[in-house]
Amino acid sequence: MHTEVRVLCCPDCGTTLGETVLHSGFQSGGTSIGPPTISCPNCGLLIDTGKSEWREKSTLQKTWFIASRVTWFSVSAFFLGSLCGIVVVWGLDENGFIRNVDRQFYFFVVFGIASLLLGALFCANAIREIRESDRRVAKRIAEEII
Ligand SMILES: [Zn+2]
Repeated sequence: MHTEVRVLCCPDCGTTLGETVLHSGFQSGGTSIGPPTISCPNCGLLIDTGKSEWREKSTLQKTWFIASRVTWFSVSAFFLGSLCGIVVVWGLDENGFIRNVDRQFYFFVVFGIASLLLGALFCANAIREIRESDRRVAKRIAEEII
């Protein structure tokens, strides 16, 4: 897996147009939602961003997007959930709030809550990205009709 931040510059006039984060491997589909081309505000030249809009992605790319998000979420949930569980159980234990036998129970409760919260956050984020993408496409189509 490899992550590359590419600074987009206009080849014509050198204006910096922003950055694009490119992933390879399982994350590649997950972070590539965006306009496929942007125009230079200085000279109007169209530049490829290496991204594509959600609607223009193939079924395979869409599946990949979801799969990469789920994988990414699972890994994060596991680590963050465990960390929260350990910290909370340790904190309660130190202050004498829980009995030794209840440790595992509390760990899994915290783990579950942290994972659910993270899951909701990930879903909301993915949905927002797709919606924004759809809005851009709709706007572009409307502009093309005019
Ligand atoms: Zn330019």
